[in-house]
Amino acid sequence: MEYCYQPEIEKASREEIKNIQSERLVNIVKHVYENVPLYRERMDNIGIKPEDIKSVDDLNKLPFTSKQDLRDTYPYGMFAVPMENVARLHASSGTTGKQIVVGYTQKDLDNWGDIVARQLAAAGIEKSDKVHVAYGYGLFTGGLGIAEGARRLGCTSIPVSSGNTARQLTILEDFGSDAIACTPSYAMYLGESAEKAGIDTKKLPLRVGIFGAEPWTEEMRREIEKSLSIKAYDIYGLTEIMGPGVAYECSEQNGMHVNEDHFIIEILDPETHLPVKDGEKGEIVFTCLTKEAFPVIRFRTKDIGTITHEKCGCGRTFVRMSKPMGRIDDMLIIRGVNVFPSQIETVLLQMNLSPNYQIIVDRKGVLDTLEVQVEITEGIFSDTISDISRLEHELADRLKSTLGIAAKATFVAAGSIARSEGKAKRVIDRRNLD
Ligand code: ADP
Ligand code: ZN
Repeated sequence: MEYCYQPEIEKASREEIKNIQSERLVNIVKHVYENVPLYRERMDNIGIKPEDIKSVDDLNKLPFTSKQDLRDTYPYGMFAVPMENVARLHASSGTTGKQIVVGYTQKDLDNWGDIVARQLAAAGIEKSDKVHVAYGYGLFTGGLGIAEGARRLGCTSIPVSSGNTARQLTILEDFGSDAIACTPSYAMYLGESAEKAGIDTKKLPLRVGIFGAEPWTEEMRREIEKSLSIKAYDIYGLTEIMGPGVAYECSEQNGMHVNEDHFIIEILDPETHLPVKDGEKGEIVFTCLTKEAFPVIRFRTKDIGTITHEKCGCGRTFVRMSKPMGRIDDMLIIRGVNVFPSQIETVLLQMNLSPNYQIIVDRKGVLDTLEVQVEITEGIFSDTISDISRLEHELADRLKSTLGIAAKATFVAAGSIARSEGKAKRVIDRRNLD
């Protein structure tokens, strides 16, 4: 059985988990009712008192929280403790609008450390290992969140933060990092840069990567594992709920275990708001069970995913969520068809094309157009022009059969698409839809 940071909870029975969740839900509902005006008002409006919530079975009686609610109460309206008890502030990176400020008490930071430590242990990281943290340090939760977990586990963190790729490579080589944490798109770029710099990644001590904060595909995982000579694990989280570590992947690499002693996950039909079955896609909704400073109830993440209660080979009992396919906000509606950038990435990598791509959506008259630009890789480079146009046609055909709409495929020069040090920006929408 693999090493587990807190086996007594990570491998608890369903009944034990349900009991813990019920007890904590009762407490948290009381906490938000007493301390957050928005929740008191919402619950009063629908005639729900904290006493009406007796177990997790009553969860669906509670109101939802939206990103808009958090923006409307910016900066501190959702805080449930006085500022003197707040140890640290963070903010969402604002990928989809105005940023949101969140707070943590000392205890919240300890809990955060625990859940991230669970991820590190599940990825096989031990006390003697050095973890190179190339997520941004700052208001973004990535850097300090992983560092909190490393401190809790007792391994060594190397707070490199993001940027300056040449320096990152020098540190990987000279400091002998055993593990690295960053966004998957940056991991790809690091692999590519290592190759250019003539570094043989097989010779580095590096063996594990912890990647998250943006959607990535299985194909991209394989690319990263190959180029950095590591095993790559997925980690999921969001600022509004905690930061990285809300869910974590184990050695099975088949879904992420949700830290159910701290969060309840629901997968709901975005229109009816009713739970969907295991394996069916829906909007991911989280309820915090232990947060003191910034507890949110039934928070609609806008992320789309699935869950499964099936037993996992690693022995952990927490439910597993799929890789989120993307956010409802990322979903492009092109000529009435729903398109996720991750579907396009899958096609590219299945054809062994470059993972450096860009999606350009435009409108010609009344018609939406979709163009996928992908960088030429060395293999293709040596080919003739007619080979390139044959490949462009093949790509366009495959995109059409996967997405259900026509797309133009264009190869562009290697290195011409901007690399990202944090979250990748894949889509350029020129339609001015708002
Ligand atoms: P922002 O919302 O401003 O980008 P966050 O850094 O809190 O700020 O981003 C959280 C979001 O990042 C999640 O809601 C999800 O859409 C995305 N995300 C985080 N981890 C993953 C992951 N492992 N796979 C896919 N998407 C992820
Ligand atoms: Zn598992």
